[in-house]
Amino acid sequence: MTGNEQHYIDEAFKSNWIAPVGPNIDAFEKEIAEYVGAKGAVAVSSGTAAIHLALSLLEVQRGDTVFCSSLTFVATANPILYQGAEPVFIDSEPETWNMSPQALEAALEESYRKHQLPKAVIVVHLYGQSAKMEQLQEICQLYNVPLIEDAAESLGSTYKLKHTGTIGDYGLYSFNGNKIITTSGGGMLVSDDLQGLEKVRFLATQARDKAIHYQHSTIGFNYRMSNLLAGVGRAQLQAIDHRAAARRRIFKRYKQKLSRLPGISFMPELIYTKSNRWLTTFTLNPNVTSVTPHQIIRDMTSQNIEARPVWKPLHLQPLFKGCKYYSHAPFESISENLFTTGICLPSGSNLSDMDQNRVINCIEDTFEKATNKEGIV
Ligand SMILES: *Cc1c(COP(=O)(O)O)cnc(C)c1O
Repeated sequence: MTGNEQHYIDEAFKSNWIAPVGPNIDAFEKEIAEYVGAKGAVAVSSGTAAIHLALSLLEVQRGDTVFCSSLTFVATANPILYQGAEPVFIDSEPETWNMSPQALEAALEESYRKHQLPKAVIVVHLYGQSAKMEQLQEICQLYNVPLIEDAAESLGSTYKLKHTGTIGDYGLYSFNGNKIITTSGGGMLVSDDLQGLEKVRFLATQARDKAIHYQHSTIGFNYRMSNLLAGVGRAQLQAIDHRAAARRRIFKRYKQKLSRLPGISFMPELIYTKSNRWLTTFTLNPNVTSVTPHQIIRDMTSQNIEARPVWKPLHLQPLFKGCKYYSHAPFESISENLFTTGICLPSGSNLSDMDQNRVINCIEDTFEKATNKEGIV
């Protein structure tokens, strides 16, 4: 917390707006929209809810397909299942670890030929790194398929000076506890399509028709954010640039200290993009070092330091068994390589230099042990 949250919460208590409506919500929506440069925003209960609402708005239903990045958290694709539709997973490309334009193109071309174009494409900006939006958008526009940006992890990141989440048709952010700013739980859908957002507000509040009595003609949800939590969000948003800078600094320090180790490659960043570096991640080249992500994670765990592998691609998850998958190239699955070689490091905005040094030392020790074992000096 920044310390300013209490002020907004007190205000909500004093004015008695303890509901999923109120002045903090209106203000938080306006402030996010202004910050990212979108025409409008709708505050909701989670990032997952925001994706679900976008898919509902686009009338995704049983029998439809939705194309989705494979290398991501399960929350990106679950709403496709909520709607009874079928996800088709698209591989990453090596320069951003995000959706491969060439895999998307192959997938769209094939679905066009079969008269089965998807209802939407969901592209993820992984770990804060922007996807190749221009290429992806061009391909989607060619086939007239709406593009949803899952910017849950990338608030504060830009692509050619535009905020991630504002380039496609709809974008969403998450304010879950682990994200760069948090309302404990929450999300935001942004768009320039104000009419669409109005419908999203309607769907997020049980889809109540205009009538004095309670009347409903479509399925709605109870997905609005509470006015109390929106107050937390307003204070958090004031810290976003500071936090992105802190995380970029953490990344830079890891990179400076660890790049000399054999086989380490940090997650890249395209020159015309700026990542919030939500998590610092790197891969280990198995042709260069015998050290594996699992060894590092094990050694870290023994020192009470938490680290994780890169997301397990969704096309490999038991939940999505049998779903279609388009790889970057015929015999090259980038997301699978990233999963087996990648690791995420402790990257909290408030990580101290001393704590970061402990992480760095631990990784250096793992490499040293491996070198000794191999008898290489
Ligand atoms: C966190 C996250 C979500 C889900 O957001 P919630 O607010 O937790 O529902 C969706 N996609 C990605 C990539 C995420 O990291």
